[in-house]
Amino acid sequence: MKPHLLSLTQLAKGLRAKEYSSVELVRGFLDRLEAHQPMLNAMVTILREPALAAAQTADRDLAAGRGGPLTGLPIVHKDLFCTEGVRTTCGSHMLDNFVSPYDATVVAKLKSAGAITLAKANMDEFAMGSSNETSYFGPVRNPWNTDLVPGGSSGGSAAAVGARLVPAATATDTGGSIRQPAALCGVTGIKPTYGRVSRYGMIAFASSLDQGGVITTSAADAALLMREMSGFDPNDSTSVDRPVPDYVAELDAPLAGLKIGLLKEFFDKGLDAENEKRVRAALAVYEKLGAKLKEVSLPNLPLSVPAYYVVAPAECSSNLARFDGVRFGHRAKDPRDLMDLYKRSRGEGFGAEVKRRIMTGTYVLSAGYYDAYYLKAQKVRQLIAADFKRAFAEVDVLMGPTTPTPAFSIGAKTSDPITMYLNDIYTIGANLAGLPAMSIPCGLVGGLPVGLQIVGPHFSEGKLLNAAHAFQKETDWHSRVPERFS
Ligand code: GLN
Repeated sequence: MKPHLLSLTQLAKGLRAKEYSSVELVRGFLDRLEAHQPMLNAMVTILREPALAAAQTADRDLAAGRGGPLTGLPIVHKDLFCTEGVRTTCGSHMLDNFVSPYDATVVAKLKSAGAITLAKANMDEFAMGSSNETSYFGPVRNPWNTDLVPGGSSGGSAAAVGARLVPAATATDTGGSIRQPAALCGVTGIKPTYGRVSRYGMIAFASSLDQGGVITTSAADAALLMREMSGFDPNDSTSVDRPVPDYVAELDAPLAGLKIGLLKEFFDKGLDAENEKRVRAALAVYEKLGAKLKEVSLPNLPLSVPAYYVVAPAECSSNLARFDGVRFGHRAKDPRDLMDLYKRSRGEGFGAEVKRRIMTGTYVLSAGYYDAYYLKAQKVRQLIAADFKRAFAEVDVLMGPTTPTPAFSIGAKTSDPITMYLNDIYTIGANLAGLPAMSIPCGLVGGLPVGLQIVGPHFSEGKLLNAAHAFQKETDWHSRVPERFS
């Protein structure tokens, strides 16, 4: 089989069996990344020389019987993970010249396990978006149909893995940005429990919601990476000090008796009928594997989009205040005075969606409106979290669609932010409640992939990966590759 069609787990075995060297692998994937860049625009920066140098070191380590669990394996990082000595743009003009002086904890952990960074992936500006159209570096295209969006904000990560330009990519999820693009590109994505993966060095959007995770071609690969990148980090005050289970060892646990809750609110009138059929067919596979299905209701879940679009902009307006033209990023030329410097640096550096969020956020936090909007949204958030808690007293995991529809055309929703925000209707709840959630490919609708979403109680990543892996042993949706990339 061609190496680009192999999973990370298979590539790790092939490297140890000396079927190919890391230099060969890395060169092959770099060639693919570069060759398809004009078509997909999935990367912002490709790191050919440093990646090949790291691969040479990896080959020496492998030959000497040294190295970690990921030694010699290629990955890319979403361009909001700080990478030492490497441009880290967050998809924004504000940071297009920013070279990070340090590695994010996720980057450092994967590096010390041996992974090799090939490139930095394109993304929505400051991770604000559902279609990867807000990037300063232009839209990413969906590998299944290049007229369509890949989803966002981790669109570059998902498109690259979907097209097998790289076997795995890091990503982040504030309201669905791992799961939603994973669904639309036909790949596997996991957003861990809030606090499971360090946010240190992840450029902040909405700090109480942001969580790092991965996009891969299989749950087994996600387990391999999650085992390395999870864990307590004293540099992140919200990181949770709790041992990291061996997610790989838990993959094959039997599913019999698993209680699956079908979220009534997810099978609503907004769900595309064909998309629903694929999700229901996936649920039937779980029944065959011995799981029990039960309908459950989370009555406050329909409030998740409005609550999120108050909380997330509020936090973003505060986080992005640091980009003032003085300390980081873009600085306006020849300012008249300090106010002019602030105004023009921010005015020139940020794109329209980021400005919309900052203005909304500043408004809901202002003295006259704080109680009516921000405080109210926080209360709704608690109600949603309580709904989930009640549901998990009855079932082990919740399942439903990841998105209401398959991928849509580039430009179709850009003029209407509310319609765009509704793409996240099924994913945002898990962020508001801090829960782990995954999306796995479960079928094609009109030749386009759709995802099955699995949500679990806090710190149930092992169970989610186990359930996803069981499905992937029974089906081959996760191994489908768009023809021109196979
Ligand atoms: N689409 C959502 C937003 O624009 C979620 C983005 C994300 O998860 N980073 O806020």
